[in-house]
Amino acid sequence: MPEPAPVMIATGPVLVPVPDADGSLDSAGAMACVFDATPCRMQAGRAIAAGVASLRSACVNTPAPQSRRYDVLFCDIDGCLAPESTGAMDLVSLAKVAEHNRLAQSRRDRPIVTLCSGRPQPFAEAMTKLLANATVPLVAENGVWVYDPATNAYIMDPAITREHRAAVREAAAWLEAEFGPVGVTQQPGKAASVSLYHPDTSVLKRILPRVRAEFEARAWPMRVSMTWLYINCDLAHVSKGTGLDRAVAMLPERLGHPIDRSRLAGIGDTPSDLAIRERVAWFGCPGNADAQLKAAADVVATRHEAAGVAELLKHFDP
Ligand SMILES: [Mg+2]
Repeated sequence: MPEPAPVMIATGPVLVPVPDADGSLDSAGAMACVFDATPCRMQAGRAIAAGVASLRSACVNTPAPQSRRYDVLFCDIDGCLAPESTGAMDLVSLAKVAEHNRLAQSRRDRPIVTLCSGRPQPFAEAMTKLLANATVPLVAENGVWVYDPATNAYIMDPAITREHRAAVREAAAWLEAEFGPVGVTQQPGKAASVSLYHPDTSVLKRILPRVRAEFEARAWPMRVSMTWLYINCDLAHVSKGTGLDRAVAMLPERLGHPIDRSRLAGIGDTPSDLAIRERVAWFGCPGNADAQLKAAADVVATRHEAAGVAELLKHFDP
């Protein structure tokens, strides 16, 4: 059998014609190979017509070659993609993030933006639909949930036991009895944590030491921290960091190649986002971020919140 004609190495599928014995390439009986370099796979012994059909199919089904420096960018929501207050979302900037994500998924030339947030899972699920991420998992409720938009899987941290959730319910009942009468409310939608809100943030700052002391006295296995407008009471062994570790572990199967810190980027604005910083190679902050985060960032945007995120994403434009 004659040797296949030499071809240039390509990053996508190519047709390798095999001449007939007389050297012609147009015979119906000529053989062809379809070589797909991503991944390496060879299908030999097909007639030209079948080879062309296979090549066409391979071109349709094989993703564009990857040229991006980072695969995934984990972004906080409050203070980054949306105001933590009741203020309206910046839809113009969010549309830019969604367009970035459409290109990231079709061209594979920039990181896909997903979420790492303390917000309840339904809020984060809605946000990821808005941002057109249908590919990679997100982290919600400070690590309680990993949600996979590709499969619609809701994955609670398996390290959260029935006893842990009972402790959270007990703490929530005490918080409601103690601070409900002074107007402190609990953010709806949380499954294994409690977030306290009051329209006057000084009330939260005043009760914070009392909350911490009671949690310690009752040995509830929880961490008490403050964001711009909320007191967050989270299980001590669950965090944005543990959620990120679970989400990142799902990425190799999803993206088809190994993933380590060098392939990840992140954006955050408050100290809880240092968990993102520690797990990514590139980290950015919107201009409104906490000084501690700005000091740890590779790039700080001049603009605030979603406009700042859109500004940061321009660093990844090819
Ligand atoms: Mg934030």
